[in-house]
Amino acid sequence: MSEADPSASSGQGPSAGSGGTLEQAVEEAAQLIHAASHVVALVGAGLSVESGIPPFRGPGGLWTKYGEPDLRDYERFVENPKQWWEERISRKGSYQELIDALAQAKPSGGHTALKEMEDLGYLRHIITQNIDNLHQEAGSRAVTEIHGNRTKLRCMGCSHRWPLDQFAIDELPPTCPECGGMVKSDTVMFGEPIPRDAMAECIRQSEMCDCMLLVGTSAVVYPAAGFPVDVKRSGGRLIEVNPNETPLTELSDVVLRAPAGESLALVVSRLREMAGAR
Ligand SMILES: [Zn+2]
Repeated sequence: MSEADPSASSGQGPSAGSGGTLEQAVEEAAQLIHAASHVVALVGAGLSVESGIPPFRGPGGLWTKYGEPDLRDYERFVENPKQWWEERISRKGSYQELIDALAQAKPSGGHTALKEMEDLGYLRHIITQNIDNLHQEAGSRAVTEIHGNRTKLRCMGCSHRWPLDQFAIDELPPTCPECGGMVKSDTVMFGEPIPRDAMAECIRQSEMCDCMLLVGTSAVVYPAAGFPVDVKRSGGRLIEVNPNETPLTELSDVVLRAPAGESLALVVSRLREMAGAR
């Protein structure tokens, strides 16, 4: 996609994109959030980038550097789970850079702002495409992870999840003590269906949502791509929080064209004032 000239948009275009200042966009975003009854944040890799985790796509992305991942990942796991587990335990593969970055990453200002928005009673839920556990580390409580969580294991039979350090692996592949099903990483692999419970919660949240924050996501990947469209179609409002233009910019009512750590912190301090006055 080519760089659009921000001054070229007109009419009903997003506020910051039509020549408005970040300050104006922050005010409009805070007003929309304050007036909404069920605010949901849809979060993508851009927020993790602010915590030093490299993205998959785009310049400097892991796939750009190392090539696209094996699209048969899940198929290979199902064919030979024991071998998959052996490789995982020996920690081989070209994703060491990602593994290292994940291990060192700390929540960013954007993660903290979303946590504070939840504390203030404005943000009801986070739907995240990230697997890094940083929302939980920041203290957020209502979080659904479309692609799983790297710090957890999941039973393929009953969807029970365990933190990695609370599951003793004494056979490969490990099996579920509840139902005997096969246990895998909670992280969703290529070709693996989105876990049913996570998908159902995303749909439930999107249906209730009348104001969605689109944080660091271009939402080009389904199912996440469908949620903002559904919200907009049912009369809800969209607030884009992204330093870069995305395919969602055109749909958005307000655009905060800055890193989440900067812009969401400003929105939260405005919401604090409004919460104090209500
Ligand atoms: Zn089970």
